[in-house]
Amino acid sequence: MLSAPYPWLEASWQRLRATRTRPAQALLLAGPRGVGKGALARAWAGALLCEAPLADGTACGGCPACHWFDTGAHPDFRLLTLQEKTGKEGDTRLAAAIEVEQAREAVDFVRLSTYRAGFRVVLIDPADQLNLAAANALLKVLEEPPLNTVFVLVSDQPRRLLPTIRSRCTRLDIGLPAAEAAAQWLAGQQVEDAATLLALSGGAPLDALNWAEGSALDERRSVLEGLARPWQLDPVTLGERWKAISPQAWHAVVYKWLGDLLAVKLRGRVLFNRDFAEELAQLGMQVDLGKLLTLAKNHADSGRTLTHPLNRPLQQQAWLIQYRHLFDDEKRP
Ligand SMILES: [Zn+2]
Repeated sequence: MLSAPYPWLEASWQRLRATRTRPAQALLLAGPRGVGKGALARAWAGALLCEAPLADGTACGGCPACHWFDTGAHPDFRLLTLQEKTGKEGDTRLAAAIEVEQAREAVDFVRLSTYRAGFRVVLIDPADQLNLAAANALLKVLEEPPLNTVFVLVSDQPRRLLPTIRSRCTRLDIGLPAAEAAAQWLAGQQVEDAATLLALSGGAPLDALNWAEGSALDERRSVLEGLARPWQLDPVTLGERWKAISPQAWHAVVYKWLGDLLAVKLRGRVLFNRDFAEELAQLGMQVDLGKLLTLAKNHADSGRTLTHPLNRPLQQQAWLIQYRHLFDDEKRP
């Protein structure tokens, strides 16, 4: 019987379950985004907290501990994650980092005795977003975790963790599933055109599913149709139209578009946006490589300043003007 949160995680799940009686006290689940590391970490926390685990080490789903865990009320569980903040205009956004107060609260928590007789679990996701003070506050307890305490860290970018934190963790790498397995799973979720969506998400099935659900695909199309016709784009109108799109989504769509322009220019092939292959091939012939490299690098760096909503239309207009200048008017088709 399969019991992993997603079928492609079965081997990793088995490895974890085999350690159920003597788990790593600091575990790092590392791997690309969109492969289910967070779900695996939660399943593992649930298995550790369950008071009547099945013979294979999985949570029973029926004991009081499982019930508390499922409702987010288990007294021996803490989740450290990015908190939602409310801005001046009543808008909510995620904090830029896991802050030191959260880490200190977790340290106090692990120093208490457990409510129940079993394990106590601290889940840190995304661990690479711990700010420096928070990471330092956790170092000591990660080095010598109290008895029956398990830290589970989840990260898409393990290299951004402090080396001192990384070295204290037992690392389990979660890779991309085989393309066929991912496509099969997506088909089972009623996703059409799984191959295009998988290419778009770099092979990560949960990202592909996100694309398929909601308005993300329409938003992407609206952005890319603008970018595909640089000579016709009007920065002001387009900047206005894009206001409704979340800055993270916009950033990701543009990032992959610039990546594809580089790929067609340098290697003659599209990596992500296969449905725009023709447009990209055309643009690749007209784009100025030096300017493109600069814009792509600046765009990658700007990912960190996405949380200033007031600047967005202006930022996007400025960006569009730069984008427009990538293309040589004389080679205009
Ligand atoms: Zn249980």
